[in-house]
Amino acid sequence: MPVTVEQLLLATSLFWAFSANRLFQQAALKERVLGDPATWGFLGALLLMLTALHFLLLAPVCNRWTVKPVLALMIVGTAFATHFMQHFGVYLDPSMMRNVLRTDVAEARELFAWSLLPHLLLNAVLPLLVLWRVQVQPRPWGRATAVRLGSVLLAAAVLVGALLGVFQAFSSLMRNHKEMRYLITPANVVWSIGAVAAAQAQGVARPRQAIGLDASPGPRAAARSRPLVVVLVVGETARAANWGLNGTARQTTPELAQLGVINFPDVTACGTNTEVSLPCMLAPVGRRDYDEARIRGSESLLHVAARAGVRVHWRDNQSGCKGVCDGLPQDEVSSLNPAGICSEGRCLDEGLLAGLDERLAALSDTPRAKVGPGPAGTQLLVLHQLGNHGPSYFRRYPPAFARFQPACQDDDLQKCSREQIVNAYDNALLYTDHVLASLVSKLQAAQDHVDSVVLYVSDHGESLGENHLYLHGLPYAIAPDLQKRVPMAMWLSPGAAASIGLDAACLQRRAAQPVAHDHLFHTLLSLLDVKTTVHEDTWDLTHGCRAPWATPTGCGATHGPPACHWPRCWPGTPAGWTSPRLATSAPQPALPGATAPGPPPCCTTAAAWRPGCCWR
Ligand SMILES: [Zn+2]
Repeated sequence: MPVTVEQLLLATSLFWAFSANRLFQQAALKERVLGDPATWGFLGALLLMLTALHFLLLAPVCNRWTVKPVLALMIVGTAFATHFMQHFGVYLDPSMMRNVLRTDVAEARELFAWSLLPHLLLNAVLPLLVLWRVQVQPRPWGRATAVRLGSVLLAAAVLVGALLGVFQAFSSLMRNHKEMRYLITPANVVWSIGAVAAAQAQGVARPRQAIGLDASPGPRAAARSRPLVVVLVVGETARAANWGLNGTARQTTPELAQLGVINFPDVTACGTNTEVSLPCMLAPVGRRDYDEARIRGSESLLHVAARAGVRVHWRDNQSGCKGVCDGLPQDEVSSLNPAGICSEGRCLDEGLLAGLDERLAALSDTPRAKVGPGPAGTQLLVLHQLGNHGPSYFRRYPPAFARFQPACQDDDLQKCSREQIVNAYDNALLYTDHVLASLVSKLQAAQDHVDSVVLYVSDHGESLGENHLYLHGLPYAIAPDLQKRVPMAMWLSPGAAASIGLDAACLQRRAAQPVAHDHLFHTLLSLLDVKTTVHEDTWDLTHGCRAPWATPTGCGATHGPPACHWPRCWPGTPAGWTSPRLATSAPQPALPGATAPGPPPCCTTAAAWRPGCCWR
């Protein structure tokens, strides 16, 4: 069948206006009465605009030779896009597109359910067959140009005319629901790919902006007698609504509940997907004055800490660190390939703990002169979980954690009931609880020679079918709280609280108040005792809960509280010696080599400071 390029473009644009934009039309007609003739007029105008828009989008890149490959590519892309938009309720904006483009093979495989086949058959294979059958008519060069110009002008006139006809209603709709434009398919795909590519090109052209150039170890870090290991666990897709420590009806965190961790029940995430949240949560200014280009173009907390001498290491069990660990030591669980943890390119999160015991033991074996005192004895280990990454929640935990039953065992969530989906999701949370508790127990085993802190926080939440929404990644302004509220918890070894000068009870009280990802950067700087002018007290959760640093002056029998209440003195106290001032604290194990009985050693100057001595 011979056709012209313009006819082909018009047919494709009409096809998309009707087949690919159902969600857009539903959203646009949501507040209208179906029986009202004005509603049908509005819908007619929308269809005209959608057709004209896509015609205008295609016209510049299609000629007799390019029209078939361009349309074939676009038809397939559109079919995939509409499937995921309709299936999971996602909007294809630039941040979602960034996620799509950075998806790895393992992630993509889980998203391709069998239900995709009939959709692809109808929306891609059939149109492709038609496209393959038609023959594009050749035209003389001059006439082709004239027809193209005329058709473009006509399409523009239709677009403007239809728009003017419904201008008031349409403009107020687009003003009040800005995110709706990301339902216009495939214009949303083209726009978002363009936006991501432009940002990428800009980022490549410019080196990452250095921040915290004045970062240096604070006095506590400089005077540290034992290594301090701060472990930041970046969770994945865990939502606050199902986090047992938040007092949910179902206990999904039984092991952490036994450990007496500090839980933060009211934490707001910076984004609704990993690509946004991860860089944002490690930036000095996140959601409170959100600027994606600035965040992506700048160094992260990890670079600032490394500048102050903290030894930083990123360990990944997901899709990489999204630039926040560029140029810093890093490894991947899949390359370490611990026994019994990995299969089909995916690893269980326990793999994140591989080699940790050896790492902690090495810290104690290393001569003091090498690891401390001083900033070299401070380490920041970031563990990036696979966590509750959907839709295949059942692949995130070993059989022993399949406690809530029946659990969804299918990559296609539509094949499972809501109860089964929630059960699989909660089982994955049970496993995260176990991974975190195992991490703490390893650190506890080493706590007589290494002080340690664990800070766990998820990157964003998840929808599990509420309001027919699944997964995450809705534009921030319209995303439900379920996608924005995340769990966060902290555990400190007794020695760490002392080394940092942190009053855990005070932090526990602070934890009850609202917290945001914006707090992480400044709080972590404090925990690591990194001094820099980018640190802001107002966004530091430990602010007001830390003992002021003073130059050691001496203590003991006569110079006790308040400084000597800090268990700082205590690890160095010889075995068998108990202090009346610490009568309520459990005795701490003595440091190796501490044998002389008597009061805790005192120190009068910073230079004379030694392990276990007190100051005020
Ligand atoms: Zn994520």
